[in-house]
Amino acid sequence: MIFKTTPAPRRPLRRVRTTTALRPLRHRLDPARVEDIPFRAADGVRLGLTRVDTGDGGRPAVLLLHGHTASADMFLLPETRNLVDALLDDGYEPWLLDWRGSCRLPYNETGRRYTYDDVALYDIPAAVTHIRERIGERPLFVVAHCIGSLTLSLSMAAGLVPGLAGVVSQGVFLTPKLAGRTSLRMSVAGELLKTRIDHIPVDFRKVGLWSRYTPLFALASRRASCPDPTCQILHNSAWGTGASLFVHENLSEATHDRLAELLGPAPLWILPHLRRIELARSVVRWHDTDHRYRALPPNALDAAARIDTPVLLLAGSENGLWLDSQKLCHEVLAHRQPQLDVRYTEIPGYGHLDTFLGRGAALDVFGHILDFLGERR
Ligand SMILES: [Zn+2]
Repeated sequence: MIFKTTPAPRRPLRRVRTTTALRPLRHRLDPARVEDIPFRAADGVRLGLTRVDTGDGGRPAVLLLHGHTASADMFLLPETRNLVDALLDDGYEPWLLDWRGSCRLPYNETGRRYTYDDVALYDIPAAVTHIRERIGERPLFVVAHCIGSLTLSLSMAAGLVPGLAGVVSQGVFLTPKLAGRTSLRMSVAGELLKTRIDHIPVDFRKVGLWSRYTPLFALASRRASCPDPTCQILHNSAWGTGASLFVHENLSEATHDRLAELLGPAPLWILPHLRRIELARSVVRWHDTDHRYRALPPNALDAAARIDTPVLLLAGSENGLWLDSQKLCHEVLAHRQPQLDVRYTEIPGYGHLDTFLGRGAALDVFGHILDFLGERR
């Protein structure tokens, strides 16, 4: 008999972290120069804030915002020349926020659920306020990736982070546009919410071969050229949505082997907000009646006149998640808000995450960021 008739051993449905202690950052900086700042958002949620001390109190500061389920680690890859290296060499003081969607924190798996409204209203403004208290009159820039950038656009349109010296937005800003099948699968994934699944893991080794997640990994493995299940669910399927998060060949082997550490589980309960945003083709507020969120505009694109900061929109030409959202954003803003200082730069041959994680990102991407900052420091 080929098939086993004994039932597979029962495994826990999920292994989740419940402590709010931050997982340590992985970097090759002098530990004495890395200041871990105890930090909470305005609604009391424990976040992570890190400053790289350069010993030079006159440098412009740059706040880095990661994407959802990633973390500040995405800017500190020890295996390659990373954005923090490039900023340090160019005379900046890097600050890194782990907002509540960071995989260094437990909130994607446990604890209080949130929407992107909370990030825009509480996390980002609190970080900017704290940094300003520390740096005084020095210029403060922001470089933001994916949902970090999308939520920043909502903070900016709400007037909650005025006076930034410049913003670099990667992947998506005010006009989110998802790949067609991503959009479709998001509604399918929404159906999973009705089951006991509330987040999509990426680390197959933790999930195990026999679990209720197995079909998701199996789906992601179809037509995959890479045998690594974590890579498959990210590169081929973006947590089951069907999108692609990076151009495979742009990652070094070391980064490829760390994907499960760099990108954590994705919560499914965020999908209704993401779905509303995607359908509106604009960053829209989730909470319509809760007065605590009234500082946020119902629609960030409609409130874009409030933006008072030069913006560089960056996107890889092969972005498999947000497609040409940034090009669209540039066109829409040029038409509707011609007074804004917004430019668009496309990176040939790059996807989404590889604009920061790619082995050649220092040469192909970071120069555009440094040029933009350098003109405004
Ligand atoms: Zn792979």
